[in-house]
Amino acid sequence: MRYSALFGKTIKDAPKDEVSKNSKLLTRSGFIRREVSGVYNFLPLGLKVLKKIADIVREEMNAIGGQELSLTALQNKESWQKTGRWKTFRALMKAKTQLETEYPLGPTHEEVIVPLVKQFVSSYKDLPLYLYQIQTKFRDEKRAKSGLLRGREFLMKDLYSFHAQEKDFNKFYEIMKKTYKKVFERLGLDALETLAGGGTFSQFSHEYQVITDAGEDEIIYCPKGDFSANAEVSPVKEGEACRLGHGPLKKSKAIEVGNIFPLGTKFSDAFGLTYKNKEGKDIPVIMGCYGIGISRVMGAIAEVHNDAKGIIWPKEVAPHDVYLIGITNNESRIKERTDEAYDSLKKAGLDVLYDDREDAAPGAKFADADLIGIPIRLVVSKRNEGKIEFKERKSAKSELLGLEEIIKKFKA
Ligand SMILES: [Zn+2]
Repeated sequence: MRYSALFGKTIKDAPKDEVSKNSKLLTRSGFIRREVSGVYNFLPLGLKVLKKIADIVREEMNAIGGQELSLTALQNKESWQKTGRWKTFRALMKAKTQLETEYPLGPTHEEVIVPLVKQFVSSYKDLPLYLYQIQTKFRDEKRAKSGLLRGREFLMKDLYSFHAQEKDFNKFYEIMKKTYKKVFERLGLDALETLAGGGTFSQFSHEYQVITDAGEDEIIYCPKGDFSANAEVSPVKEGEACRLGHGPLKKSKAIEVGNIFPLGTKFSDAFGLTYKNKEGKDIPVIMGCYGIGISRVMGAIAEVHNDAKGIIWPKEVAPHDVYLIGITNNESRIKERTDEAYDSLKKAGLDVLYDDREDAAPGAKFADADLIGIPIRLVVSKRNEGKIEFKERKSAKSELLGLEEIIKKFKA
């Protein structure tokens, strides 16, 4: 991709109504642009990151037997009345048509998936089932000033599991804990598995919390990593010791990037979702649900991986592999060399953002490379002779390498 042709350019200052670090950084670097409060457009660079996050999550859900589907955003009011959540789900958005029909705009999908699964499940042979989607959700947030960390419209992965036996559910819940750990590691986030309450879903749940001052939750956690609980439900306080005698426990603000809930038979009971066991008896299906905020993860990454100059994307979710700069000073020879490097890198399978602007000063190109935060910066210039300057975004050091050496580094 040539920067000169890219839709969505960097800007010097974020609009003054962007107050969170993540939305300031992502807006300045040309990844997102606000539509209304808590609602963002994703520009090409931003969409690339969002898709990479979604693909990592999708890969891991498929690996444990998840089947992807896509459920409606516009839902059935009667189903929400059946579960009682039409009245009790505080953040439910309700869309009214011109004929005064009301539709819940999905903040979650139990009310859609349970009646749907009921049409296909009748016997123990139909279970277990793991169904998920990556889809846009809506929540009527009172305050939405945290950029991508709290949106009125946001992208989420939600998986629902259906089981015949409690012990089968428990086994899957543990598999999900391990899978979430792996997902967040791949996303470059240090997410603590945290005991939490269940809200309108269940008695308890587990949240995946990333420590940052921008977070809206408070967690109590052991510095050795064996304990973390949401401050609202923590059995121990800051300064005390954990069960294993480590201490003192710390308290910190954190952002929830994922959660897993045991649902029991709450929703199966509401919709009469049962299966016939071997004796032909009707038994309610046991359920769990498992969420990851895809767009929120993007906000959390920007919030924790940055420095004074801009974002520092982890490799797996970066919008491009390489940011290529040519310091041409109007010398056609250097421009040709940079064009050649661009072609060779592309041929080697690398995704390159080539800053080919003729009218931008070298300093402006370096500043934009740092702001956009692509993991590797390559510079072709007269001073570097036949070599190319190779620099990691996260490091201050650079080295001069040949093009072949650089391509080899990526393949390693
Ligand atoms: Zn401990």
